[in-house]
Amino acid sequence: MRIDIVTLFPEMVEPVLAVSMLGRARARGLVDIRVANLRDYAEGKHRITDDYQFGGGGGMVLKPEPLFAAVEALRTPGARIILLDPRGRTFTQRLATQLAREAHLVLLAGRYEGVDERVSERLADDRISIGDYVLTGGELPALVVADAVTRLLPGVLGAEGGAERESFASGLLEPPQYTRPEEFRGLRVPAVLRSGDHARIARWRRAQALWRTWRDRPELLESADLTVEDRELLDRFKRGETPEGLEAPANAERED
Ligand code: SAM
Repeated sequence: MRIDIVTLFPEMVEPVLAVSMLGRARARGLVDIRVANLRDYAEGKHRITDDYQFGGGGGMVLKPEPLFAAVEALRTPGARIILLDPRGRTFTQRLATQLAREAHLVLLAGRYEGVDERVSERLADDRISIGDYVLTGGELPALVVADAVTRLLPGVLGAEGGAERESFASGLLEPPQYTRPEEFRGLRVPAVLRSGDHARIARWRRAQALWRTWRDRPELLESADLTVEDRELLDRFKRGETPEGLEAPANAERED
């Protein structure tokens, strides 16, 4: 897969792409992430990329010409052009999974008061927000999308870090994880995880995932793939029970 990030601040983006999972995936040729400086696509002696907005109102807006020129230079047939935009649809694991099937993404990072609307309407295939808050620029959102998508590409995480077991992949939050020591400040790793009984461990993990999701993100349960046993467990939680081996948390009495 190829991902282009178009930005006025390549120096903000490049260090993040050079380290850890993203850096390794790029070095191994599993993803081709390129950073384009929007200014390189601006015309004139001063290569101006922003201007005042029509109709008044404070703040500058990114001009359409450099963004159109950048996309026209970078796009390959079938490339999906994405404008990072707080007004866009919210980025989710499901959307990351869809984007990971594309051959080429072009991510456009806005700045200042935003981007000329013609970019949103005529150039972008998609407008994506990473959440209901406003950041200073689209660089961090573009990195969020690039990271979430890259870790889903074949070979990037390897067998051990399988993305399919992580939060949201199954529609539920991930169950708790522990490492050594077995006891830390009086807190013991649940005995079931040290039992070696794989069927029991799987049941415990499922119950914990259901419990965490019910307690912290109950709206996810509406679209999760639940079995009859899952639903019975949820009914028990609603009656105030907690899953085996879990201390009753303070909010177990929460109304829903
Ligand atoms: N005036 C705009 C508004 O109220 O919707 C906000 C502009 S913001 C300061 C500048 C740029 O940051 C946006 O064009 C977008 O590219 C990016 N940005 C800010 N918050 C974002 C978010 N939650 N998701 C995606 N992009 C965001």
